[in-house]
Amino acid sequence: MIKASAVNKYFGDLHVLREITLEVPRGQVVVVLGPSGSGKSTLCRAINRLEPINSGEIAVDGVPLPAEGKALAALRADVGMVFQSFNLFAHKTIVENVMLAPVKVRKIGQAEARKTAMELLDRVGIANQADKYPAQLSGGQQQRVAIARALAMRPKVMLFDEPTSALDPEMVQEVLDVMTGLAKDGMTMLVVTHEMGFARRAADRVIFMADGEIVEDTTPEEFFTAPKSERAKDFLGKIL
Ligand code: ADP
Ligand code: MG
Repeated sequence: MIKASAVNKYFGDLHVLREITLEVPRGQVVVVLGPSGSGKSTLCRAINRLEPINSGEIAVDGVPLPAEGKALAALRADVGMVFQSFNLFAHKTIVENVMLAPVKVRKIGQAEARKTAMELLDRVGIANQADKYPAQLSGGQQQRVAIARALAMRPKVMLFDEPTSALDPEMVQEVLDVMTGLAKDGMTMLVVTHEMGFARRAADRVIFMADGEIVEDTTPEEFFTAPKSERAKDFLGKIL
């Protein structure tokens, strides 16, 4: 579903993605771990083509990263992304936030878009808040709306970049529960997170990045019990 081959990315002289080669099969849940600055966000942004790459190739569902225009819009629609900050439209209601992209980008009718939006809000456990405004919801609820909004485009892949890092601790689990549900439903997911419990329980695979490289690519059991590299051991020593 995602295939990256020998991807390199520089910010000026800084080599932030080094020969990244990665395949994520359909339905797999991959958790990306690594210290701050290792290139995790840049990798997500490159897959969604929010960030151009200097060399290499990235394909989503067999379609190479298109450069621009309609093909780019189609790719963005296929790849849902959820960030640390949820960025809901403050002056639109919750259900309107979820309806917006399907109506504007996919040209779905209002009635159908609303019906789908309500189903998705139900799936993330928040249908009863549909007519409120974002500021009336907690951070955890807003992040669940952001997930519903991404799902509304019927993406083939969901990328999560530290979706719980900005939340108060008591709200982290409700968002992870929604993500676990998605994983169980077979969604292909790439998840950057520091939530090691989620990584252990929900991940099919763990990728550990350091200094722009994939240092380990293994199962959660193997990574947490028998990391091979010094850098992974050091990282685990600091966080566990
Ligand atoms: P992570 O998500 O693992 O913390 P990032 O992908 O955000 O890492 O960043 C990787 C490296 O690239 C860091 O050194 C960061 O400072 C640098 N970087 C990220 N975005 C930019 C940018 N827009 N311009 C210059 N440097 C950047
Ligand atoms: Mg990051």
